[in-house]
Amino acid sequence: MIREDVPGRALSLVRESYKEIPLYAPNKVPCPIDLSDNTNLYGVPPHAERAYREATASAITRYPALYASDLKGALAAYAGVEEKCIVTGCGSDDVLDSAVRAFCDPGDAVACPEPSFVMMPLFAKMNGLKALNIPLKSGDYDIDADALLATKARIIYVCSPNNPTGTLASKAALEKVIEKAPGVVILDEAYAEFCDQNYLKDAATHGRLLVTRTLSKAFGLAGLRIGYGVGAPSLIGEVEKSRGPYKVNAGAERAAAAALRQDMDWVREKVADVIRNRARLTEALKGLGLSPVPSFANFVFVKVPKSATEIDKAMRQRGVAIRAFSGLPGVGEALRIGLGPWEQVQAALDALKAVL
Ligand code: PMP
Repeated sequence: MIREDVPGRALSLVRESYKEIPLYAPNKVPCPIDLSDNTNLYGVPPHAERAYREATASAITRYPALYASDLKGALAAYAGVEEKCIVTGCGSDDVLDSAVRAFCDPGDAVACPEPSFVMMPLFAKMNGLKALNIPLKSGDYDIDADALLATKARIIYVCSPNNPTGTLASKAALEKVIEKAPGVVILDEAYAEFCDQNYLKDAATHGRLLVTRTLSKAFGLAGLRIGYGVGAPSLIGEVEKSRGPYKVNAGAERAAAAALRQDMDWVREKVADVIRNRARLTEALKGLGLSPVPSFANFVFVKVPKSATEIDKAMRQRGVAIRAFSGLPGVGEALRIGLGPWEQVQAALDALKAVL
């Protein structure tokens, strides 16, 4: 990456602050049963699939809507807020990245609980910001409100239910952060459909709270890359500027709007099955002598007594992919097992039992 246009004078083409940023590249080798990425394993919501197939030629040849206005209408009805409180994006990754750019100047800090969603500190660094990792409380994995507030960071990020622990931030801690934060609070609710705590209504009126959501998990549309944020119009306008036009493609917008308007029974049925299987898997893991963390998401997090990487490798050889966490700060070795139809979860349990 070193160019020598002028002999003897080397010019590094790499941004200094990018050198330490790793490429996000989890193990994506195909596996017959894949419980590694928390997507919906029950198939495609039927009306979404039809809308995608029936998209007209202009959905391919012309630009999509600038800011996905029809999708915003469908999301507003689903979230119970006004359209002007919604911004969409190419996955919620895009909404998070755009929000970081919108609210921070280079050099500002973003406070991120740890362990939590690994992309958030990366988005901070990619945008020239400092990521401050604030450990979750040991024992219950609650957020540490005082430590997050003490950073005085321009953005405080909280993921609830949290990836990878599956735990909820307690109302007391979360509401303290929301009330006292000096800047914007981003509350990542990617898994909110799997629990009964959410802050959508508060976000629409609060003024400094941005809730991010996705159709990649409960709605089964991860491949279409649809995410959204909910907040007061003054916040949403800034995120939308930062996000820029044409980020949701036309076919994806149509399928997502159809899912929201016509597939809600399908979504609710699958979420209910995940919740049943979550309880069943939790009990089964206890039966193996492990201590799974009570989960509010579509996966179960469990510490393991030997190398998570080795367990993952051996389970993959048996045809099942889960997500391994080795040397995770404050945790050590752990697995995150995604939930879906019981046969797939049972296959993961059988593989884990054999490997342990
Ligand atoms: N937030 C959390 C907590 C996640 O786990 C994920 C996906 N792994 C995302 C955001 C991003 O999801 P997407 O970009 O597919 O909407």
